[in-house]
Amino acid sequence: MNNVNKSTAIISSYESFATLDGTGIRFEIFFAGCPLRCVCCHNPETWERKGEEISAEDLLKKVLRYKPYFKNKGGVTLSGGEPLMQTSFLLNFIPLLKQNGISVALDTSGCVINHDVLKVIEMCDLILLDMKQNTEEKYKKYARGSLEQTLKFLSVCEEKNKDVWIRTVMIPNINNTKEDVIKFVEIVKNFKCVKKYDLLAFHTMGFSKYEKLGIENPLLNTKDLKIEELKKLKNILKANLQNVIVQ
Ligand code: SF4
Repeated sequence: MNNVNKSTAIISSYESFATLDGTGIRFEIFFAGCPLRCVCCHNPETWERKGEEISAEDLLKKVLRYKPYFKNKGGVTLSGGEPLMQTSFLLNFIPLLKQNGISVALDTSGCVINHDVLKVIEMCDLILLDMKQNTEEKYKKYARGSLEQTLKFLSVCEEKNKDVWIRTVMIPNINNTKEDVIKFVEIVKNFKCVKKYDLLAFHTMGFSKYEKLGIENPLLNTKDLKIEELKKLKNILKANLQNVIVQ
């Protein structure tokens, strides 16, 4: 599951001035490879482990060019794809970031837990955890993932006292009712590690990628979630979730 050569990673792409995935201005690294198949995925180009092969030292050099911009608690976000598919690399790379005083956020679906993943969680400053669906059945159907597994991952973050931001894409006709939002609240409300809950609107901006890659798009006929609807859903979340920032 992990890299054969643990000193290199396969990277799909980078974003030098990311502001949405963690605090402040961040250098975001999109690791290639993901075992899930979320129907709302807007990065299908990251599913296969294809991309640039790079060593931890060279990746650090890239990051250090942007360090002067990491203001307001900025840093590096490890994203994808699923960065935890390349944990052997992360175990080499994250300490290099730390030695350089760089804060690290992990953007993950929480789809894997093993000894190395526990060490990675330990080293990160912030975990951005996707909560795709609110039942096991829907998780399987719409993400090829598991709610139970995601909750195991969240429990580890709780045990390790790591700050977690939960993120859920609200998808029309799949998980965007008031009842859905209440179910999500029920799932996360007892976890003290959850500091923030981001509800995101489903959008069709990634559709052209499916076409370009020749991948069937399961939501081809689904429209963008309207901003007014997102606001309403956020208000329901806010009203039902105490001590958590809702965005
Ligand atoms: S976990 Fe992320 S990268 Fe993987 S399929 Fe889902 S949205 Fe796409």
